[in-house]
Amino acid sequence: MANIKQSEDIQALDQEYVWHAMKPYSPDATMVIEKAEGSWITDHTGKRYLDAMSGLWCVNIGYGRTELADAAYEQLKEMAYFPLTQSHTPAIKLAEKLNEMLDGEYVIFFSNSGSEANETAFKLARQYHQQKGDHARYKFISRYRAYHGNSMGSLAATGQAQRKYKYEPLAPGFIHVAPPDSYRSKDDADCTPTELESVKDIDRVMTWELSETIAGVIMEPIITGGGILVPPDGYMAGVKEVCEKHGALLIVDEVICGFGRTGKPFGFMNYGVQPDIITMAKGITSAYLPLSATAVKKEIYEAFKGSEEYDYFRHVNTFGGNPAACALALKNLEMMDDEKLYERSKTLGERLKQSLSSLTEEHPFVGDVRGKGLLVGIELVKDKVTKEPLEIGFVNKVIAGCKQKGLIIGKNGATVAGYNNVITLAPPLNIAEEDLEFMIKTLIEELKAI
Ligand code: PMP
Repeated sequence: MANIKQSEDIQALDQEYVWHAMKPYSPDATMVIEKAEGSWITDHTGKRYLDAMSGLWCVNIGYGRTELADAAYEQLKEMAYFPLTQSHTPAIKLAEKLNEMLDGEYVIFFSNSGSEANETAFKLARQYHQQKGDHARYKFISRYRAYHGNSMGSLAATGQAQRKYKYEPLAPGFIHVAPPDSYRSKDDADCTPTELESVKDIDRVMTWELSETIAGVIMEPIITGGGILVPPDGYMAGVKEVCEKHGALLIVDEVICGFGRTGKPFGFMNYGVQPDIITMAKGITSAYLPLSATAVKKEIYEAFKGSEEYDYFRHVNTFGGNPAACALALKNLEMMDDEKLYERSKTLGERLKQSLSSLTEEHPFVGDVRGKGLLVGIELVKDKVTKEPLEIGFVNKVIAGCKQKGLIIGKNGATVAGYNNVITLAPPLNIAEEDLEFMIKTLIEELKAI
């Protein structure tokens, strides 16, 4: 096997040995990233790019923070590993910190990825209902266009058919409803939460499916991977009310929205609702190490307390809550507090949206600019009246043009299955102001070029 260090052609080796996520084979599609500092990444040729997607929406605190490496290193030297069938101080401290942040009483189950955090939530929710003698509650409602993970349950919860059909059958018991899409549908802003059409839909589906079979609803506060769909203000409160009416749990997926992305510590905090279960990953460590968490309301946990041998939570995760990852996460969260990054996300996000908003009038293809905090989507359409998505070739041109000028942006949407006509921006929350200006200027230039 070739020695990578001696090889001149690292990209050729990459082609030979590494299977890349979400990419067809192409001789020059991947960048090999060798260094990262602040909001900038450097590839193997030395070319620098501003990373306006924070990797996969996760490096919230920016790259190159040696304090985080130190926190992990110190913990690894002290005590590298023990499973959370017992306990250790870094996990306890982190669980305490998360509790403070969540503004409610929660018990934390740790795992390693967003998908696992959601799987944990589904299993916990089903068993919780059983603990209470509600044996028929196994169904979950989720929304089309949302992404919840790659495993058989979290993919079943995902509402993007193009990601699923080659791997079916997935876990049964997941039912999808339409997401609120303020750009395309007329959900009335003046009505009460439960009068919103998208909330009434969930209420009706629960009734038709039989309330006593519904375990819960899973939702992101803002659908991210499905096109940055910001719901009407009352939507989440409406969903919570409907869940309570039917005896279902509200599971909120904060994998992307959490840790400041939407300008608050957690996305649900924009909507004045306290979820029953909250799942989180990515930003918890700013992606420096793998870690995820499922926060469960104390009263749900209490239903498992004092259980007999046969009814404890039968779920274990070897690496979940790894001590170094927990120590690093705690440091990451403390630094985000000290640097006021949630507030910064809100302020810079407003500025970003403001700078781009005139494009909806000036640019023939920019249909909508939306988002909260440093989570912004620009929906490109062929025609502003029909709102038909712009051909992907044009979207790709904007992305390629930006990349050539040293700016990495994202695209997603699932407006039509597999159709990614929404440009996404989610830079590190500590992005320098001049970098934000560079991002705005470059993006506008490339949009104008189509
Ligand atoms: N939920 C959401 C909202 C996500 O965006 C993702 C990943 N992008 C996941 C869950 C799954 O996380 P992971 O890739 O860490 O399994």
